[in-house]
Amino acid sequence: GGSGKEITTVEPSKGKPPVTPDSVVNLDQGDPTLYDEFWRLMGGRATITIPGWQTMSYFSDLGGFCWFVEPGFERQVRRLHRLVGNAIVDGYHLLVGTGSTQLFQAALFALSPAEDGEPMSVVSPAPYYSSYPSVTNFLNSGLYRWDGDANTTFAGDTCIELVCSPNNPDGGIRKAVTKSKSGKTIHDFAYYWPQYTPITEAADHDIMLFTVSKCTGHAGTRLGWALVKDMEVAQKMTKFIELNTIGVSKDSQLRAAKILKVVCDGYELSPTSKVNLLFHFAQRKMAERWSRLRAVVATSGIFSLPDKLSSYCMFAKEVVSANPPFAWLRCHKDGVEDFESFLRERKIITRGGSKFGVDERVVRISMLDTDEAFNVFLGRIASLK
Ligand code: PMP
Repeated sequence: GGSGKEITTVEPSKGKPPVTPDSVVNLDQGDPTLYDEFWRLMGGRATITIPGWQTMSYFSDLGGFCWFVEPGFERQVRRLHRLVGNAIVDGYHLLVGTGSTQLFQAALFALSPAEDGEPMSVVSPAPYYSSYPSVTNFLNSGLYRWDGDANTTFAGDTCIELVCSPNNPDGGIRKAVTKSKSGKTIHDFAYYWPQYTPITEAADHDIMLFTVSKCTGHAGTRLGWALVKDMEVAQKMTKFIELNTIGVSKDSQLRAAKILKVVCDGYELSPTSKVNLLFHFAQRKMAERWSRLRAVVATSGIFSLPDKLSSYCMFAKEVVSANPPFAWLRCHKDGVEDFESFLRERKIITRGGSKFGVDERVVRISMLDTDEAFNVFLGRIASLK
C-alpha cells in the first residue's frame, strides 16, 4: 500500500449469463454489448483514475444554471455534436441526467402546467417505445398522464408528444404528428447517431434527449444529456433532478467525458486510422448483422421486416442505409397469434407488439447484443419454417 498505484482495474460485474448454442438467448432489452469489442480495441485509452479525495462535493458548476453538470462533460458533448452534425448546440442549454430516462421525466415535469387542473396528456404514435407509458404513469402523477397512440387519441389543445427518431421499436424516421396549439414536444434522439441512421440534418427542436447508452455503448454509466432551447424549461428540468437525485454522479460524468473525448479524438486527431473510429466500427457491425438478418428473413417465407431506408448522410458524406438498433420482426405463419410466446418456446426472448401499442404478431429484437447472442438467434430463426 501507499504507492497509490495498486488499483488500476475493477472487478467485473456478473452481468448476463453467457450464450451457448442451446441456452436461452435474451434479446428483450437493447443492452448495447456490441460495443465491448470496440472499447477493448481501444485498450487503456479511455481509462480514467479518480483519486479517493476527488469528486466529493455535490457541486460541479455553481456559476451555471445547472450546478451539477461537469464542465468537461459539457465541453465533450458539444464537441461531439459539432463533429457528427446531428444537433445544433449553439444557443442551447445543456443539462445532464441519470440516463435519458431521468431527463425524460424531468421534461414531462417541466412541460406540465403549474396551475391545478387536469393532468397533461402525454402521447406518441404507435408503435411507441414501451417505457413511455410505464415511466409516465408509474407514480400516478397529477401533472401528466399517458394517453396512448398520438394517431388515434384526441388529446385536445394541450398535450406533450414524444417524438422518437429513429423510432424504437420500428426504426421509422419521425416528425411530430400532433398539431396542438401548445405544440409541446420532447425529441428522443437516443438513436440519432451515424451507426444507426443517415444524419440528414442538424436537429434544432425545443427539447432534445441523448444518451451515452446507445451512442458509445456505456449503458451502465447511466448518463444522458438534454439540449434545451428555453431557459425557463431548462431551469425547471434542473429543479426536477435536484429534487429527484440532488444532481448526477460526477464520476459518471468524468468517465463519459473521457469516453466522448476518445471518440472525438479518433476522428479529429487520426481520421485515417482504421481502428479508432467508433461510428464506423458500429456502422460496419450493424450493417453486417442487418444484411445477414435480411437474407434469413427473405428465404424464410414466414417473416417480414420494415423496408430498408437509405439517404445521404452528412457525416459519412455518402448515401448510406439505416441500421436500426432493433429488428421489428413480423410473423405471417398461420396459427401464430402471439409471436413473442412462439419465440420464447424456441428459447428466444423478445418483446411483443402489445407493449408498443400494436398487435401480437410482431416483436422487437435487439440488434445490439454480443456476436454470440446474435449468431445463435440468427441460426434459430433460420431453422423456423
Ligand atoms: N429512449 C429510448 C428510445 C431508448 O431506447 C432508451 C433505452 N432503451 C432510452 C431512451 C433510455 O436510455 P438511458 O439508458 O439513457 O436511460
